[in-house]
Amino acid sequence: MNVRRISDHSYQFTRFGLVNCYLVRESDSFTLIDTGLPGSAKLMIDAARAIASEPIARLLLTHAHGDHIGSLDALARALGEPQVAIGKREARLLPKKPAQDRSLDPGEPQCKVKGSLPGALTGPTHLLSEGELYGSLRVVGSPGHTPGHLAYFDERDGTLYGGDALVTVGGEVHVVGFGPWYFTLPKFGTWHRPTAVASARRLADLPIRRYAVGHGRVVEGGPELLREAVQRAEAKLR
Ligand SMILES: [Zn+2]
Repeated sequence: MNVRRISDHSYQFTRFGLVNCYLVRESDSFTLIDTGLPGSAKLMIDAARAIASEPIARLLLTHAHGDHIGSLDALARALGEPQVAIGKREARLLPKKPAQDRSLDPGEPQCKVKGSLPGALTGPTHLLSEGELYGSLRVVGSPGHTPGHLAYFDERDGTLYGGDALVTVGGEVHVVGFGPWYFTLPKFGTWHRPTAVASARRLADLPIRRYAVGHGRVVEGGPELLREAVQRAEAKLR
């Protein structure tokens, strides 16, 4: 696993060059954003210990796909009783079958929810809603990749933890489902691309200074990078 410091408050953990999680420092402990693939728990706990002695007290999920919740159960076991936080809407996709609920609400696009949804045994302790503050992170609704996808914005340093709302593989910011052409996995796992574009347009209103997303390297830059990505995506949607 590759560990890289990305700001005064956070580190990027990358496995297989492609799957990212983020360790975010709070005053007395760490928050881990997403839990990666199965088999990552010990690597991430060891990496956090090498950075500082504070515990990982919170596991914060952007969405319920398997490459983001893969080590949730193992981490929850190893860490004792961490907080586990996920969006209220997305939480319906977090349990294993048959408790998992893939139904759609009346106001939502009636497309099938896609991608790997293995579910977890660990349930959430916190159900998040758009606009609230979780530690230092502002909760930002960003549906499209999944119906209840959330992004998190660190107002201390302008880092947008975008999950799979955005993709930076290749070093450029893309709306999920709109490139780069050689990295198609998130596109096939995306529920509703027009909704993803609308979410990205709203994310571009944030005073972003850096993009830290689920797949791809960290990109330094302001909201103009995302506005350009939205324009490219809108041109393809037409
Ligand atoms: Zn995903």
